[in-house]
Amino acid sequence: MQGVFNLKLVSYKLRGKPGTYRIGCVIDQNVIDLQEGYRAFLLSKKEKDAARHVHHQLPSDPTAFYQCGTSGLGRAREAYHYVTSQADKESLMFDLEDVSFGMPISQPEKIICVGKNYAEHVAEMRDGDIPKFPVLFAKFSNALVGPEDAIEKAPATQKLDYEAELAIVIGKEASQVSQEDAYDYIAGYTIANDISARDLQKRTPQWLQGKTLDRSTPVGPWIVTADEIDNPCNLSIRSFVNGEKRQDSNTSHFIFDIPFLMEFITDLITLKPGDIILTGTPDGVGFAMDPPQFLDEGDTVTLEIEEIGKLENRVICK
Ligand code: MG
Repeated sequence: MQGVFNLKLVSYKLRGKPGTYRIGCVIDQNVIDLQEGYRAFLLSKKEKDAARHVHHQLPSDPTAFYQCGTSGLGRAREAYHYVTSQADKESLMFDLEDVSFGMPISQPEKIICVGKNYAEHVAEMRDGDIPKFPVLFAKFSNALVGPEDAIEKAPATQKLDYEAELAIVIGKEASQVSQEDAYDYIAGYTIANDISARDLQKRTPQWLQGKTLDRSTPVGPWIVTADEIDNPCNLSIRSFVNGEKRQDSNTSHFIFDIPFLMEFITDLITLKPGDIILTGTPDGVGFAMDPPQFLDEGDTVTLEIEEIGKLENRVICK
């Protein structure tokens, strides 16, 4: 979707009010409700029937919105341009202070994770050679939480660890995609913390049980649309625990870059709009420190990725 438009897409609701999260976009210190913006756009064109059915064309539910693929993103662009061109645009915006953000996508069909995708991280984990093929594993949507939520530490683990990762959000159905066309299938990028229970991850050859604990994996704060980022394979990526820098790398250090991953994964699996790919973490995780450092109640983990933003969550014990 290169060259289409650029937005920071959020899942928002009015702070302190009941209701469900809705798809919106952030402009400076404000949030536009994209469905209401699109309704206003249709009414301005005297398309009353279309405005009545706007919930089909631009669903307010964030996951349903991404599942519309490029048509939903195109309508979001029209809403964005219409609202920002209006003299009374404030009537279609909310102040950031008055809203809270939820997970950008709450129920993706697939959350595919790439392990061992930075050489320095492979080395620090003393986990064998550089992989010849991408190491893939999965999370389920039970694991996801939003940018304002806590990371929940389950009683089953004593070794909870952070992993800063660039996450890809799929924008249209993708099967047998070539590296050359890979970026056409990406709606945007966000930040994910691939929280990992090292004791559970490592007690069997399959990592799954340490990777998808309930409400353990923050994602957000928003999805930056693809064309806002010149080169997602050249972004600084850092993490901090209670303000202490732990990871400091760049996505240019990927072993398998984004076009390669898109071709590799879509040779095996059909990706759908709204699916998420976590691209792996650089070196600097707590497990590899001397002595190892793990997360506990009250810790705050902050992840930063250049051109996307900051994702900060505290840890609570369940
Ligand atoms: Mg990871």
